[in-house]
Amino acid sequence: NTSLAELDPEIAQVLQDELGRQRNTLEMIASENFAPRAVLEAQGSVLTNKYAEGYPGRRYYGGCEYVDIAENLAIDRVKTLFGAEYANVQPHSGAQANAAALAAMINPGDKILGLSLAHGGHLTHGMKLNFSGKLYEVAAYQVEEDTFRIDMDKLREQAKAEKPQVIIAGWSAYPRHLDFAAFRSIADEVGALLWTDMAHFAGLVAAGLHPSPVPHSDVVTSTVHKTLAGPRSGVILAKQEWAKKLNSAVFPGQQGGPLMHVIAAKAVAFKVAGSDEFKERQERVLEGARILADRLNQPDVAAAGVSVLTGGTDVHLVLVDLRNSDLDGQQAEDLLHSVGITVNRNAVPFDPRPPMVTSGLRIGTPALATRGFGAAEFTEVAEIIATALKAGAAVDAEALKARVHKLAEDFPLYPGIEG
Ligand code: PLP
Repeated sequence: NTSLAELDPEIAQVLQDELGRQRNTLEMIASENFAPRAVLEAQGSVLTNKYAEGYPGRRYYGGCEYVDIAENLAIDRVKTLFGAEYANVQPHSGAQANAAALAAMINPGDKILGLSLAHGGHLTHGMKLNFSGKLYEVAAYQVEEDTFRIDMDKLREQAKAEKPQVIIAGWSAYPRHLDFAAFRSIADEVGALLWTDMAHFAGLVAAGLHPSPVPHSDVVTSTVHKTLAGPRSGVILAKQEWAKKLNSAVFPGQQGGPLMHVIAAKAVAFKVAGSDEFKERQERVLEGARILADRLNQPDVAAAGVSVLTGGTDVHLVLVDLRNSDLDGQQAEDLLHSVGITVNRNAVPFDPRPPMVTSGLRIGTPALATRGFGAAEFTEVAEIIATALKAGAAVDAEALKARVHKLAEDFPLYPGIEG
């Protein structure tokens, strides 16, 4: 019964230092969030000890009477949250949910058509070193060079020419809504299945602030830890007719024992995501992103060669275009890090710089909204970011750091938790 601090002081120190980092900096990585304390509690619980291969009521291990309750709660809550007929809450991660979804829908060698990684798609949508690029034939669509948006008429023509078995809607870096009805009609026209990966925007969908892909798609996958603010993990939703194939694709197809502590934490996160508080928070997520885009659209920022891809945002992130700036993506990421703001560099479509350097930044608002930030705080954050990007190497990092510190102090993270 030795505590972590006693048993393993080195790892205990890592936890404390990471909590300090999260508390003292402003987290603006678009795919990150702060899981509520209740989620951390469920995830750090004795449920980690339990083997439960199979599904509730049909396990290959004894002693599953309590974890069955947790899994059924998670399933029922996520189905209600998104209006889905079927849910599988066992995928350990978003990537595993996607692997199972494709395995259920098609066979190796079949063709998938997804958004190119370089234009905002995800590794699991057909990148050549990923399972998706190795197992399946891949065709990729792109955004337009002038608008940076997906042109659905062009996608229709491409789908007719490529005849994929699966069309993928969804992204890791795209600041606008997708037209799910148009995706559905294209899929129907070419006899393809429609899979939507809503990992990034699921929290907005849950709050009713983003169009839902669920009624239009055959299968929908998501992570639970981005805008949804739950434990790091994945989930699959689908029409009931897919239940058998998807269940079998997850277990035994992709995974052995489910992580029951994570599934319990997912149940908690889905409960939270159905609340009025969660909806109000997602409104602040969107408001914050709009405030940031508006600030970065101002002439003083444009004069430094910095602009906003597509001119704005409909979602929780802003894509910053640095192709005309003296700063590349790596330098801009480091610059913001030096003032206490964490973001990630991101290739912009048609990026002239290599993928490890890039000409863009992806900046998201979900974690700060969870922390309590509203319009006033996001206005201050936007001002700090604009000031840094305009100044470049000449930035007065100490002055900006003090402003960051004040915001962090005003919105304490995880009060009462000690790492
Ligand atoms: N799908 C999309 C669209 C993503 O952006 C991500 C993560 O960045 C994933 C899937 C994969 O999630 P995970 O990191 O949990 O495997």
